[in-house]
Amino acid sequence: GKLEKICVIGSGSWGTALARLAAQNAAEKDGFDEEVRFWVRQREIPGKGLLTDIINETHENARYLPEMKLPENLVAVPSLTECVKGATLIVFCVPHQFLPPVIKELSQPGVLEKGARAISAIKGIDVDVKTAEIYTYPSIIEKKLRLPCSALGGANIALEVANEEFCETTIGCPGPEDCALWEAVFSTAMFRVHAVEDVAGVSLSGALKNVVALAAGFVDGLKMGGNTKAAIIRIGLLEMSAFTLEFFPSASAHTFSHHSAGVADLITTSFGGRNRKCAEAFVTSGKTFDELEKELLNGQKLQGVATAEEIYAFLKARERLDGYPLFTKVYQICKREISPEAIFEGI
Ligand code: NAD
Ligand code: 13P
Ligand code: CA
Repeated sequence: GKLEKICVIGSGSWGTALARLAAQNAAEKDGFDEEVRFWVRQREIPGKGLLTDIINETHENARYLPEMKLPENLVAVPSLTECVKGATLIVFCVPHQFLPPVIKELSQPGVLEKGARAISAIKGIDVDVKTAEIYTYPSIIEKKLRLPCSALGGANIALEVANEEFCETTIGCPGPEDCALWEAVFSTAMFRVHAVEDVAGVSLSGALKNVVALAAGFVDGLKMGGNTKAAIIRIGLLEMSAFTLEFFPSASAHTFSHHSAGVADLITTSFGGRNRKCAEAFVTSGKTFDELEKELLNGQKLQGVATAEEIYAFLKARERLDGYPLFTKVYQICKREISPEAIFEGI
């Protein structure tokens, strides 16, 4: 039959690490066009030339995934429309704040291949405060682009995945056909993929764990130890799962308790993630999150603060803040409305 053609939209640390896995599989497994394209926002690197030329010549993405060789069949493409041309499998992996212009360009007539499928590796959520509605990114991609969309999430710090340290991920898919396809795209001996038919659960977990990871960073900033962080993780996991089941009744509690996208992602992010790192510095330095993102992340994006704001606005509009004291406290600390120590009151 026709070969599946993979395209990855996004070239930050996780986009690049996922594109690398997909390109390895496209080269090794049957059924795939060998060339995998990924969309790289064009930049001029002073004294060195255009970023896409550099990536395609050196097979490295020096800023976001340093010292990591990329497969030669992975091609950086600066035009989004060109990048998705002919693609049947489209991976969305831009930080969530940059998705709207991507959707706009892809929704122009004739840009997307008929019958294409999508997966979102984006960890975030979109709230419409006016209507008090909440939308997952797979649901937005499905609605605006008419692509069936799965979700990918798990305990996956990008650099560790790229270094081929053993780990697991979860894909939440609308049905068994998507489960099999996306598993083939990403699974390797060291990157273990488990499929569940729970798109909302995987998607919500990836967004909400970033809020809890901020709380974990706050307690690190307060110089508290493992007991405290374990308590934050336990309480946070319960709020993540309760929130999801309350507002997305089709989701499964099992995704949170048994899968990498739930408990395991929360643990790794609470120890080794960017949200944790910036939240710790927020307490110890007194700086703003915007300053810390620039200082500490070298162009990478902090997601948890925006998600905490969206979740707070949504819960407020639904008059449900009292059901989620940890999410509420994280927002208030981010705004410096309350002190970090106040996180323990009421949780
Ligand atoms: P990143 O934070 O490493 O990189 C930022 C990316 O945003 C770069 O590709 C940059 O070119 C792009 N960018 C910056 N400004 C832009 C603009 N104005 N318009 C468009 N693009 C712009 O990105 P990432 O870590 O790959 O994050 C993508 C998604 O993957 C996020 O939702 C994140 O939560 C999720 N994720 C990340 C990791 C990780 O370890 N990095 C792991 C799992 C999931
Ligand atoms: P951070 O964005 O906090 O680094 O989390 C990365 C992640 O999602 C790991 O699975
Ligand atoms: Ca919004």
